[in-house]
Amino acid sequence: ATPTAIMVGTGKGAQNGILFKNSTALEQLAQVKTVVLDKTGTITKGTPEVTTVLLQPGASQKRVLQLAASLEYYSDHPLATAVIEANEAQRVPVDDFTTHPGLGVTGQVDGQLVLVGNAQLMAQSQLDTSGLAVSQLTDQGNAVIYVAYAQQVLGVIGVMDPVKDDSRQAVAQLQQQGLKVVMLTGDNAQTARTIARQVGITDVISDVLPDGKAQAIAQLQQQQAVAMVGDGINDAPALVQAQVGVAIGNGTDVAVDCADVILMNSDLSSLVTARRLSQQTMTNIK
Ligand code: ADP
Ligand code: MG
Repeated sequence: ATPTAIMVGTGKGAQNGILFKNSTALEQLAQVKTVVLDKTGTITKGTPEVTTVLLQPGASQKRVLQLAASLEYYSDHPLATAVIEANEAQRVPVDDFTTHPGLGVTGQVDGQLVLVGNAQLMAQSQLDTSGLAVSQLTDQGNAVIYVAYAQQVLGVIGVMDPVKDDSRQAVAQLQQQGLKVVMLTGDNAQTARTIARQVGITDVISDVLPDGKAQAIAQLQQQQAVAMVGDGINDAPALVQAQVGVAIGNGTDVAVDCADVILMNSDLSSLVTARRLSQQTMTNIK
């Protein structure tokens, strides 16, 4: 594109809360054929709330939330806030706090190992989760957080993060432009599929560890040019890998640093606008 076309496109972007960090991004967004969307904080609001706690026989909800919140206090994961807010008991001291990206968190309480995280985290310690009927939670779109203490799973916390008001419409508009829209998430398949259905996405890549996000993008790039939209630290490598990396709204600093385009409003319709600006920039010069 000519410098003038780039200037016009960049300027219109700024008026709409869309920051193109370089002219290549403005030019390439029109070329992408696949748009990959992170789930949490990108398609959903990123303000999860605890909806349900399922317990093993003999366990108490108060204790499950207390243990979970005591560890999550040290986590910066979006799910952590929900657990901390739902807890009404005094936090207990935690030793050896450790974050396991894409899995959960662990620590020691009263000399016992506490695990707070997904089914994979429990499976890594050979803990049995089969007594808990989580499908009723995941079918509704809840993320699930298991809580284990001293080699026993005590219960599971269901956390719901509602989709943004405009996500469904934005996905439809992208699809109408002939784009393939894919959801990419570290969350479990069932939860991911429910949220995907709510916004009209059929292509879902779930249970992806943070390292795996960039690999998933690379695989999609073998077919077509890809734009990736995300907000989290765990999205950063994927944003770098994609032809166009897009950070959304109140994205973490790392995501914003790694992206080529920043959507200052945290709604997905800005992506539709960004792509339209890119197309206008490219047709104006030919
Ligand atoms: P996403 O791709 O949706 O942003 P992440 O890769 O951050 O998800 O996390 C994937 C999954 O790992 C979460 O859905 C959750 O089950 C589990 N997990 C990660 N961190 C935590 C945490 N601090 N507490 C509980 N669960 C966690
Ligand atoms: Mg996210």
